[in-house]
Amino acid sequence: MALELYFPQGNHCTFQLDSFYWASSLVFSNLYIVLLSFQCFMNSILQCLSNTHDLRDYCLHNSHRRDLNNNSRANTALMEEFAKLTQTLWRSTSSDAVSPSEFKTQIQKYAPRFVGYNQQDAQEFLRFLLDGLHNDVNRVTVRPRIQVQDFDHLSDDEKGKIMWSKYLEREDSKVVDLFVGQLKSSLTCSDCGYCSTVFDPFWDLSLPIAKKSSGEVSLMDCIRLFTKEDVLDGDEKPTCYRCKSRRKCTKKFTIQKFPKILVLRILSQQVY
Ligand SMILES: [Zn+2]
Repeated sequence: MALELYFPQGNHCTFQLDSFYWASSLVFSNLYIVLLSFQCFMNSILQCLSNTHDLRDYCLHNSHRRDLNNNSRANTALMEEFAKLTQTLWRSTSSDAVSPSEFKTQIQKYAPRFVGYNQQDAQEFLRFLLDGLHNDVNRVTVRPRIQVQDFDHLSDDEKGKIMWSKYLEREDSKVVDLFVGQLKSSLTCSDCGYCSTVFDPFWDLSLPIAKKSSGEVSLMDCIRLFTKEDVLDGDEKPTCYRCKSRRKCTKKFTIQKFPKILVLRILSQQVY
């Protein structure tokens, strides 16, 4: 199964549904990015990001300059090149294709796995790119140490809020404002009923495809399947914190906090 995107000037990109699914509606800029030897994964992601309005405006208004991390350990060239590319895409009066070669140099420095011209996974590229951009404009220059604390006496909502504020103490940027959400994982012991909850930040969600006997499978069907209660038994039995022994448990994911822009990855090999 493949998803095809058609760009202005007749270019188009095809990528497998298990690599990447972009959930927002897209309005393309007037220019297009020249294909660098079959590097559709990079082109499709750059097109998506340059059309993500909040991130686009952040670059067009040069707001990223205010946030560039002046910590000497940080390399800020990736954000600069990304902003330059976005500005060229939206402001250039020429109808020529834009080459992202300078940007490519910087992403290769940040993530050497993208050196060369091999085809890569678009979702993986997006993760590296967002991570690199975030590091360049992280408002936190000195990350506080992680302290292990017990929040079991608090309600789940209070715990979620505290975990989120602790995350922001270390990772806080425009990229986080837009793309990071919070996932709650609950594990309930079938023996004693003890429920342990963990809250983790997420940059994207990998969804299995829901199986239906008839009709189309919607995105909501896949999200419902992702958040459905699952029984862990047999070899999968986790250790219950209260019983101090391995017990049959039910596991459930809940989206505690949605990001402004939700990135979904559809796992086409996993149909349930
Ligand atoms: Zn138990």
